Amino acid sequence: MTSLHRFSHPLTFNILELHDHLTCKGFSILFCWIPSHVGIPGNELADNLAKSATINLNSPVPVNDVKNYIKSILHSEWQAQWDRKDTIKLHSIKLLIDCWPSIPTRKLDTILTRLRIGHTRFTHRHLLLGEPAPLCTACQCQMTVLHILIECRQFNHQRIRCFHSSSITLKDILHKDPHPQLFTFLRMIGFYSLI
Ligand SMILES: [Zn+2]
Repeated sequence: MTSLHRFSHPLTFNILELHDHLTCKGFSILFCWIPSHVGIPGNELADNLAKSATINLNSPVPVNDVKNYIKSILHSEWQAQWDRKDTIKLHSIKLLIDCWPSIPTRKLDTILTRLRIGHTRFTHRHLLLGEPAPLCTACQCQMTVLHILIECRQFNHQRIRCFHSSSITLKDILHKDPHPQLFTFLRMIGFYSLI
């Protein structure tokens, strides 16, 4: 209570003032926190009363409360937009909009980001040079990050050595915490220096 000052939430301040007022008159106030109304008879009634108490509050709203409210609305809208972009390569790896930690080494962090968005020098250079897309000689299909890391059967041996399985997904190795053997695998298959 001693930490409260005039910048504290006005509603909290009102409650404390009322509490002081009542205790001065001899009332004994007991605060009771109920996590939810589940299992309590009349919970609908309690919920409705709680909601009606907040509708007609005629007190100022702190700027931080407004900021947090706007932030949560914007974040929800951003997430809804991201949910609709399921054709973007990064979407299969990152479903939720949140901040992922970066790798302290800039070079490794750049490589990881390029793999996550599916754009590397090796797979996309042909667009700048006006050349045909690179093909996998073993599978006769276009080289993509998905094909190189996950699909191409010529790297199964290295996959088993690094990830203990030849059947993995991009999410398994490029998620928020990338697989610890990811860069070893990239070096083993000769892709590291081409990213
Ligand atoms: Zn292949």
